[in-house]
Amino acid sequence: MEHPENDEAYKGLVVNAGIEQPSIVNPYLRARTQFRRRELTANDYVEGILKGDVTILSRAVTLVESVLPQHHALAQEVIEKCLPYSGNSVRVGISGVPGAGKSTSIDVFGMHVLEEKGGKLAVLAIDPSSEKTKGSILGDKTRMEKLTLHPKSFIRPSPSAGSLGGVARKTRETIVLCEAAGYDKIFVETVGVGQSETAVHSMVDFFLLLQVAGTGDELQGIKRGIMEMADGIVINKCDGDNVERSNLAAGHFRNALHLFPVPDSGWTPKVLTYSGFYGLGIKEIWDMIYQYMDFVKANGYFQYRRNEQNKYWMYESINEHLRNSFYQNDTISKLLEIKEKQILEGQQTSFVAAKELLDIYYSEVLGTK
Ligand code: GDP
Repeated sequence: MEHPENDEAYKGLVVNAGIEQPSIVNPYLRARTQFRRRELTANDYVEGILKGDVTILSRAVTLVESVLPQHHALAQEVIEKCLPYSGNSVRVGISGVPGAGKSTSIDVFGMHVLEEKGGKLAVLAIDPSSEKTKGSILGDKTRMEKLTLHPKSFIRPSPSAGSLGGVARKTRETIVLCEAAGYDKIFVETVGVGQSETAVHSMVDFFLLLQVAGTGDELQGIKRGIMEMADGIVINKCDGDNVERSNLAAGHFRNALHLFPVPDSGWTPKVLTYSGFYGLGIKEIWDMIYQYMDFVKANGYFQYRRNEQNKYWMYESINEHLRNSFYQNDTISKLLEIKEKQILEGQQTSFVAAKELLDIYYSEVLGTK
């Protein structure tokens, strides 16, 4: 008997069976978790992206950025399916050293183009610093306060893992996804430190170089190659005491640019001054960019540059795949440590070690030497 008190002997006393304690584990939890973790198929991704669903777009970008080999095939399928819907945008690269005012400017530029031209804006970044120092320059502070809140903007920090080429390729693929999702203005931001400009230049239609007038010899700090890449140089912080210096610097840049040969686009880069902080001279910058777009679309350079970029990215992808295939090979990754040691101890030269590793790799992958 469950309750002895209910025995005949205890007349007048009845103890009812208690209420069963509910399980401390939510019985619905599993079902919900399963629902939340439901893997999307390539078609789910593409459908969501084409509808402009920001959550799905974000998940697709995460998939593209994933370093897990099992995600690669799905990511490539999504990109492939989005490709026919991409390409219809203005892609602008924005570069400048830390402190030049990139975040401040992109916030203002973004608000300006959205108000003036409508449409949707995606802001992406290529930040090589996150690779080496594991900390990023772009994205670790509150940036672009107004744009972040704008319903027509999509801001995504730099992919962080891998080589600069790998990071850049992911950003380039994210452009495809964003364009398929209806973003017709794409900004790609990068820190002006050398290689990353080349990467950005290889995926945008217009390359904007942000400068600040300072000591008067700012020209010396910029590599010639970077100036040659610029379709426009804009001097920020042209406000208060800095106006005169900014105008002077603009003159220096104009003179320097005159010494360069006319670029393939036939467009002579312009130099403008503005103040991102006070919102001065912003319209002129965007008028310049749209003027450029009309110019290069009319003379055919626009399509030429995009075709060249596609070619460039094919080679970049091949290089990256080969590199990954080599370094992710089990035998090779084990041997690399040994070879490194041998080189440090002077037992083998780098060239011989490299040759040996490659021979082993070839014989394993191709079955030949
Ligand atoms: P980033 O590192 O290139 O992204 O630069 P930030 O946008 O964070 O700007 C660096 C500093 O410069 C901040 O303190 C800004 O307030 C300041 N700044 C940015 N634009 C201007 C401007 O047009 N005028 C002035 N006076 N200061 C600015």
